[in-house]
Amino acid sequence: MKVLMVGAGLSCAVIGRKLAEAGMAVTIIDSRSHIGGNCYTERDADTGVMVHIYGPHIFHTDDEEVWNYVNAFTTFKPYQNRVKTTSQGQVFSLPINLHTINQYYRKTMNPTEARAFIEEIADKTIEDPQTFEDQALRFVGRDFYEAFFKGYTEKQWGCSPRDLPASILKRLPVRFNYDDNYFFHKFQGMPEEGYTPMIEAILDHPGIEVKLETTYEPQMAEGYDHIFYSGPLDGFFDFRLGRLGYRTLDFERFADQGDYQGCAVMNYGDRDVPYTRITEHKHFAPWESHEGTVCYREFSRSCEPDDIPYYPIRQVEEKALLGEYVALAEATGGVTFVGRLGTYRYLDMDVTIREALDTAQAFLSAAETGAEMPAFVKSPL
Ligand code: UDP
Repeated sequence: MKVLMVGAGLSCAVIGRKLAEAGMAVTIIDSRSHIGGNCYTERDADTGVMVHIYGPHIFHTDDEEVWNYVNAFTTFKPYQNRVKTTSQGQVFSLPINLHTINQYYRKTMNPTEARAFIEEIADKTIEDPQTFEDQALRFVGRDFYEAFFKGYTEKQWGCSPRDLPASILKRLPVRFNYDDNYFFHKFQGMPEEGYTPMIEAILDHPGIEVKLETTYEPQMAEGYDHIFYSGPLDGFFDFRLGRLGYRTLDFERFADQGDYQGCAVMNYGDRDVPYTRITEHKHFAPWESHEGTVCYREFSRSCEPDDIPYYPIRQVEEKALLGEYVALAEATGGVTFVGRLGTYRYLDMDVTIREALDTAQAFLSAAETGAEMPAFVKSPL
């Protein structure tokens, strides 16, 4: 079997590796000059700091098989993401926890008191929150919504939180203790030398050939038994039904000496600060020490045709268009769409790997039985 894979990010690397191990011939192409997609990391030549070139990536998962998988290819160091936010002239701890609640309201409540207090200030008239705003008002009340979420979300998504689904906020917990770990997953860490060597190691198999600076064109499919496509779903079809909406990010990079902000991620909740957050990359590798420092000011905006797509918007209009592209993809045959861009979903790295492992398994089973491989192993709808 000969397989062509488009995109040298996590999805195709993981699927390609499994197929190569099963004896298939895998060719992976990528239009960029490097592997790793948006997980790509690179050491800054001047300071020695490991930079997450396309923005911060923190590995966290509850999936033990996925955790074992990544650890088989690289050494992970312990890392816990602790995010701060600057809002209304103060610095607070995120996700909202007992420290945030006590600091904001200048109180000394214990967990039970804080729980009762938040329940008191929350908007209980909202029974089944559908929008981001309702979810926030129902679970943390108007003060926190306005201090931490409203302005940030308007900047991040370019629309009112009333027009966004509750699911976006559900990514963030509220804690009635002093645990300020941003993620609540069982496993969390950072690859010691960044993500690039990890993905390089996954791709390092005699059955895998990687061709960089190679943009997919339909005639390339000739001679291959199947295609895995991790580029944008609408791009595969030449945007013939229209463009699926994305947010893109601009990073304003600056270097300095010493410690710029004392933490890896500082969010900015106020609407009048134009950026959403500043990341200071050396704090993603607390086991290293550097005199210099590299920071990114992060700005979010609507993604234009020449920009890098980051966050699929998935509002009502995009969902309708997505449905049409899904139907088109399902009618096509010979190609399976994978990953964040291929399935138009906002996927964390661990979910991407889990789905890639499942996709590889589905393909191997289909190859064995002669069944047809579907366009999507995980439906984007
Ligand atoms: N969010 C916010 N304020 C913050 C952090 C997050 O309003 O300080 C909102 C924002 O809309 C974001 C969502 O919560 O898209 C999910 O947050 P997460 O940290 O998971 O964002 P992501 O990983 O998507 O950048």
